[in-house]
Amino acid sequence: MKIKQSKKSLVRPVRKPKHTLSAKQLAIGLQNNDRHSLARLITLVESTRSTDQQKAWSAIQSCTKRASKSIRIGITGPPGVGKSTFIESFGLHILNQGHKVAVLAIDPSSTLSGGSILGDKTRMPNLSAHSSAFIRPSPSGGSLGGVAGQTPQVIQLCELAGYDVILVETVGVGQSETAVHAMTDFFLLLALAGSGDELQGMKRGIMEMADAVLVTKADGDNIKRANLAKAQINSALHLFPVSKSGWIPKAECVSAYESKGISQAWQMIEAYRAQTSKSGFFSQKRERQVQWFFDQVLHFEIVRNTEKKRGFQSAYDKILRRVQSGKLSVKAGVSKLLHKG
Ligand code: GDP
Repeated sequence: MKIKQSKKSLVRPVRKPKHTLSAKQLAIGLQNNDRHSLARLITLVESTRSTDQQKAWSAIQSCTKRASKSIRIGITGPPGVGKSTFIESFGLHILNQGHKVAVLAIDPSSTLSGGSILGDKTRMPNLSAHSSAFIRPSPSGGSLGGVAGQTPQVIQLCELAGYDVILVETVGVGQSETAVHAMTDFFLLLALAGSGDELQGMKRGIMEMADAVLVTKADGDNIKRANLAKAQINSALHLFPVSKSGWIPKAECVSAYESKGISQAWQMIEAYRAQTSKSGFFSQKRERQVQWFFDQVLHFEIVRNTEKKRGFQSAYDKILRRVQSGKLSVKAGVSKLLHKG
């Protein structure tokens, strides 16, 4: 008996499910700005299976086009400071300048809770609906361990897909700021104007890493307080030694609600790029970013290979108990364990 096929099913192109695509096909998709190929490759990079990671690596290696010239911007600030609202407004402004924007999130709490509070597309509805923007929720866990995980590879994938402004967001808690600072070109700290003693609440280390501090919510009744905080932060920034980049960090006020200070923030980053490209610092920093990631992967692999050795776990338990009971020092215990393993 002849089965009648509907017209629709005859004309519909046969699309391979993304997970069956080869590394080469994914690479072609990536370079043709196919968002699904990009998303699939990020999933492979974040996978705990080494075969998945190898597939992602071979896709990256078979890319023939060079990645676009990009700027990587780290954005941090405590929860509630207005990061998502700022990124939405800032991202849309950058898109209007003709750029393609990728937003990646690092959420240290997601590794603990197994869930993610960041990267939710509903946080940036207009940006995530834009065809030139790509928003990736933070990974929960992953093969490389640590909060930074695979983000440098994800940045690379986004750049190969033609995104030339990469925003890497992190909540201002935990050690993720150091990682984000190490993998980006420009580090933006968002601060809240408070009762006048906000500087005390701000971690000195983070302030020292910042290339710019933006005091958020500078609108309505808050303008006065925001300007005061800006002045205080500016005088605090002057006390830090001039950084190797030669760039002098500045504090400014922004209001995402009123789109105030948004274009100025972008101009500042453009000025930073121009200045540090001219001085050669920009490319030196890129080299340092690669070295940082290389070291991260190296350390991770050394630990993983050690842990894989036969009898490691039982030796670990035994030696740890001796350290805990004070019979061995930490250093002696580790040394014993490494030589045993
Ligand atoms: P995040 O936790 O740092 O991502 O902060 P959100 O972007 O979610 O913002 C926290 C709260 O501050 C929300 O209630 C926002 O509506 C509010 N908010 C964000 N930006 C502004 C702003 O420019 N002005 C004012 N007045 N409120 C803002």
